Amino acid sequence: MTAMVPVTIIRGDGIGPEIMDATLKILKAANARIEPEFVSVGLEAYEQGISSGVTDAAWESIHKNKIILKAPITTPQGGGYKSVNVTMRKSLGLFANVRPTQTFEPYVASKHKDVDLVIVRENEEDLYAGIEYQVSEGAFQSIKLLTRGGTERIVRYAFEYAKNNGRKKVSCMVKDNIMKIGDGMFHKVFKEVAAEYPEIESDSYIVDIGMAKVAANPEIFDVIVTLNLYGDIVSDIASLVAGSVGLAGSMNIGQEYAMFEAIHGSAPDISGKGIANPSGLLNGAILMLEHIGQHDVAANIYNAWVKTIEDGCHTGDIAKKGDKILNTEEFTQAVIERLGQQPNTLPKAISEGKVAMNMTNVCKVCEESSTQEMVGVDVFVSGKWPVDQLGQLAEDSSTDKLSFKLISSRGMKVYPGGGLVAKDSDFWRLRYYGQGLSNADIYKLLENVDKNKLHWVKLETLYHYNGERAFSLCQGE
Ligand code: NAD
Repeated sequence: MTAMVPVTIIRGDGIGPEIMDATLKILKAANARIEPEFVSVGLEAYEQGISSGVTDAAWESIHKNKIILKAPITTPQGGGYKSVNVTMRKSLGLFANVRPTQTFEPYVASKHKDVDLVIVRENEEDLYAGIEYQVSEGAFQSIKLLTRGGTERIVRYAFEYAKNNGRKKVSCMVKDNIMKIGDGMFHKVFKEVAAEYPEIESDSYIVDIGMAKVAANPEIFDVIVTLNLYGDIVSDIASLVAGSVGLAGSMNIGQEYAMFEAIHGSAPDISGKGIANPSGLLNGAILMLEHIGQHDVAANIYNAWVKTIEDGCHTGDIAKKGDKILNTEEFTQAVIERLGQQPNTLPKAISEGKVAMNMTNVCKVCEESSTQEMVGVDVFVSGKWPVDQLGQLAEDSSTDKLSFKLISSRGMKVYPGGGLVAKDSDFWRLRYYGQGLSNADIYKLLENVDKNKLHWVKLETLYHYNGERAFSLCQGE
């Protein structure tokens, strides 16, 4: 018997309070060993002028308890309001978003049968790091940032999750045929970590075909691990094909903190009517109980919930012809009445005997040291130029250490003797190579660039790591 665990409870907006009350009622009836601590987050906080939507008292509770059960929050549109989800994810280091997706055929209509997959999405890096620039009048840049440490952490988490939850296979989704350096690193780390888990099968997909397969044959997947943007898209595809948007819970996991929720929003259209389906949040709460080691309670609630679904007791959102439609309170009562019962045909919880995930020592692969040698620099220049004139000035800017190599536009070599230049190009990459370089050599080059009246807006230094090129070549280079 574990001790009572204090949990910060966010009742949320719209249908949030209704489904949170229902969920907590079921947890209480099942003797979950938690102590709820209610805080005010969302509309109430926005109305007090707190643009993050999170009050100081809420932060205090979160920092103390480290476990959060959260109902959906309405994010007001415009006006500088920040999404509570993004704020929490970033400030609490919630690096993994985990979303189990299942079908409940023939009891809940779905496009496919026998789907039971879990998507483990990296939550902090990739294009969501929010590093963006307008680099010229006509060019805009969003930086896709991946770290080796962050990649290893999410991949290792996916394998640990698989190991501890009776899963057989982990699939990786990347686009490393195009992004050979960033996605290539993710894929390499995946293979290295997979080798440490020989008992778990592993495979990889190029993300476009991978997502198409999730839409067409979701039953072939077990655990999917992927980058932030791909994970965002593929988790919505998976929930839609499984027909479980209103039923699925999800968890956001960090080294210290963890937050559990439903995947749907605050449903303002049905708020206050007492008809909302509490299943998504209840499934989020079941994940929370697993996470804090209360597997017995989690399994009891899950089995009772599945039995309720099997018995045709449904809320209006998932009811089929002939089902008895229950309101939130009646559905809650139906689950409580079935505590202690097992499903007849659908799979029951397999949670007995699971152990907490070992996420210590997560960064094994990235501890390797590497040698680094500067071999050149890309100078990015803005402005409308005839390419031959720009090429001449770029060549003239070379120094005794840094020799001009080429100009590219949108990744394509356009000078010397290069590809077609788009009419409106106003953002150029001037590439210089050299040997035995230091930062002082770059300053000298930039002085020449200035003298030639070229407007440079950013730089990327070019390196070899462990003797290998660590930057992409231009198309045509
Ligand atoms: P939504 O998920 O709230 O609603 C989409 C549709 O599904 C609506 O018709 C709604 O009635 C129905 N629905 C959703 N949950 C239901 C439930 N439990 N039972 C029965 N029907 C349900 O999506 P939306 O309308 O795009 O977003 C509404 C608000 O929720 C927005 O302010 C959005 O920012 C916010 N939101 C919050 C979260 C979160 O806090 N995690 C997630 C998504 C959206």
